[in-house]
Amino acid sequence: MFILKGIEQLERAIAKAKIVRPRVEFDCFGRYRVSGSKGYYTVLCKKSDNGYKTVACSCKGAEKGLVCYHAAAALSLHIGLARRQQTA
Ligand SMILES: [Zn+2]
Repeated sequence: MFILKGIEQLERAIAKAKIVRPRVEFDCFGRYRVSGSKGYYTVLCKKSDNGYKTVACSCKGAEKGLVCYHAAAALSLHIGLARRQQTA
């Protein structure tokens, strides 16, 4: 799990996601399934009570606190949905 502080943090993971092009499946708002090398990973995006945005992925890299491309791919969908909710 990592705390999302800014988009710069995601740049490398986004670049990788553009190459790998994982499938992102919508589960519910804030919960996504992203295809990886060993099946699907679950990515959870949420806002904690103190206002931090946290992102958790079930892959090995994210366990160590790395920003993985699964998280980046899920976040791009999540951010789009969050914007739509705010304007709705
Ligand atoms: Zn991951």
